[in-house]
Amino acid sequence: MNNGEKIKLLNEYIEESDNIVFFGGAGVSTESGIKDFRSKDGLYNEKYKYPPEEILSHTFFIKNPDEFYKFYIEKLNCLEKAPNICHEYLTKLEKSNKLKAIITQNIDGLHEKAKSKNIYNLHGSIYQNHCIKCNKSYPPEEIFIKKNYICTCGGIIKPNVVLYEEPLDNNIINNAIKYISNADLLLVVGTSLTVYPASSFIQFFKGKHLAIINKDTTPLDNLANLIINDDIKDVFNYLNKNLHK
Ligand SMILES: [Zn+2]
Repeated sequence: MNNGEKIKLLNEYIEESDNIVFFGGAGVSTESGIKDFRSKDGLYNEKYKYPPEEILSHTFFIKNPDEFYKFYIEKLNCLEKAPNICHEYLTKLEKSNKLKAIITQNIDGLHEKAKSKNIYNLHGSIYQNHCIKCNKSYPPEEIFIKKNYICTCGGIIKPNVVLYEEPLDNNIINNAIKYISNADLLLVVGTSLTVYPASSFIQFFKGKHLAIINKDTTPLDNLANLIINDDIKDVFNYLNKNLHK
């Protein structure tokens, strides 16, 4: 089957399903101009005083918030970014009641911007920030525009982003697993499925069709019924044009 035929088949799966769950990774946001942390030309290969995976760790944040925020403000500001065809298509699919949940590893808030509703941000979101001392919350502009990360109480403001060494939110994990295990079509998009524990979520799927859409192959390709190694934008442009035809 060529890619065109595969995308057509994917569209048929979507048409016949009314319990779809979307599981997305960095590739979903690349088309919106947001760099993939782990890709060859992503952040992890740039040169900094410390490796990015060290800067983005809990220990580093507590010990060296100045250096953390220098990196965070410069590299993770997505406030100006706009949703792309994939985000927009999912919103339509959710409105038509076919899509039940969006589970994402991204922290850029683009699904919210596209007005999707049932979103589970596994790694948190740059849009929520709170003081680690008094719990007062702050909008992202406080950090990215005002460049302030000290609370009025003197405590440090922390973005609600899961840093290295930090656990994922239990409530979000449970919901993600619940939706995945009840779905009859799981769309896994733009993720290399190499980041634990996100990758393990896929194993809970016991529905009819598992489709993986990613530029490159993934270690879980053997679990999928349909693998499309193509441009995410092209795939979703096709799906969007053919929605409810
Ligand atoms: Zn405070």
